Amino acid sequence: MIPAQFAYRRATSVADAVAALADPDAKVIAGGHSLVPMMKLRLARPGTLIDIGGLPLRGIADGAEIVVGSLTSHADLAQAAAFAAAGLQAVAECAAAVGDVQVRNAGTIGGSVAHGDPASDAPAGLIAADARIRVAGAAGEREIAVDAFFQGPFWTALGEQELVSAIVFPKPAAGSASAYESIEDPASGYPLVGAAALVTVAGGRVTAVRIGVTGVSGTPFRATNAEAATLAGAPVADAARLDITGQDVFGDTRFDEEYRRHIAAVVIGRAVERAIARAQGGSQ
Ligand SMILES: Cc1cc2nc3c(=O)[nH]c(=O)nc-3n(C[C@H](O)[C@H](O)[C@H](O)COP(=O)(O)OP(=O)(O)OC[C@H]3O[C@@H](n4cnc5c(N)ncnc54)[C@H](O)[C@@H]3O)c2cc1C
Repeated sequence: MIPAQFAYRRATSVADAVAALADPDAKVIAGGHSLVPMMKLRLARPGTLIDIGGLPLRGIADGAEIVVGSLTSHADLAQAAAFAAAGLQAVAECAAAVGDVQVRNAGTIGGSVAHGDPASDAPAGLIAADARIRVAGAAGEREIAVDAFFQGPFWTALGEQELVSAIVFPKPAAGSASAYESIEDPASGYPLVGAAALVTVAGGRVTAVRIGVTGVSGTPFRATNAEAATLAGAPVADAARLDITGQDVFGDTRFDEEYRRHIAAVVIGRAVERAIARAQGGSQ
C-alpha cells in the first residue's frame, strides 16, 4: 500500500529535531525499517517526517561505560568487539539476530528501542546489561533505566517531544559474561522467544545475574525467579516457569500460549547456561 501524504525535512541538529517534535503530527525517522512499513499499512500517518539520519548520533564510545549513539546500526553493534571484551556478548548477539543483513544495516538501535515493538530482540540484551536510555528533550538530556523504559506494546517512557540520543551500557564486574538465546520466526527473524542472561562468576559460583526476556508478552521483562535460582545454583528452567506464569503471554498460529510458556523457560535456561560457561572460560 502507499503511505498517506506527508511532508519531509531533514533535522539539522538534535535541538532542531526536538523543536520539530512540538508539532504533535510530526515523527522522527531513523532507519525507517519499522516506521515505513507502518505508514504503508496506514497504521501510522505522520503529517511530517523529521529525518534524523544525518545527525552525529552514530558510533560506539568504549570508555568507563560503553555509549552507543542512537543511530548506530544493528550491523555495527553486532560487529563491535567492545561488547565481548566487557562481557556484554549478549548485546552484540541481540543485534546479530535482527532480521537480515539489509535490516541490520539500515535499522538503528535507537529506532528499535523507541519503537517499543514487544517482539524485538534488543530489549532482552538491554535488560540483562542494566542499560540506560539517554534521551534529549526541550529541557536537555536525561537517562531512563531500562527497567522503567519499556511499558507495554509500542509504549515506552519516552516523552512526546523526546529523542533517544544514546544507549549507555555500564561495564559489569570482572568475571562476567552474557549470552542471548532466541527462537526466531524464519520469515522475518523476529524472536518468538528471546532471553539474554548476564552473570558474574567468582570463586566458582554465580555472584550476580540479570536476565531479560523478549517476544513472550507485551512488555519485555526481567526473569527474577530464574535469577534467584541461578544465584542459588538451582534448576533455572523450573524457576523461569514462575516468571512466565505472571505474564500475559502471546499466542499465535506458530506458538500457542502454552507452548510459548514452555519454550520461554527452556530458552531462559539455555541463555543462563551459556553465559555461565562463557564466564568460566568456555568458548560458547
Ligand atoms: C523485514 C524486517 C525484519 C525485521 N526483523 C527484526 C528482527 O528480527 N528483530 C528486531 O528486533 N527487529 C526487526 N526489524 C525491525 C528493525 O530492527 C528496525 O530497524 C528497528 O526496529 C527500528 O529502527 P529504525 O531505525 O528502522 O527506526 P524507524 O523505522 O526509523 O523508526 C521507528 C520508530 O521509532 C521512532 N524513532 C526512531 N529513531 C528514534 C530516536 N532516535 N528517538 C526517538 N524516536 C525514534 C520513529 O519515530 C518511529 O516511531 C525488522 C524490520 C523489517 C522491515
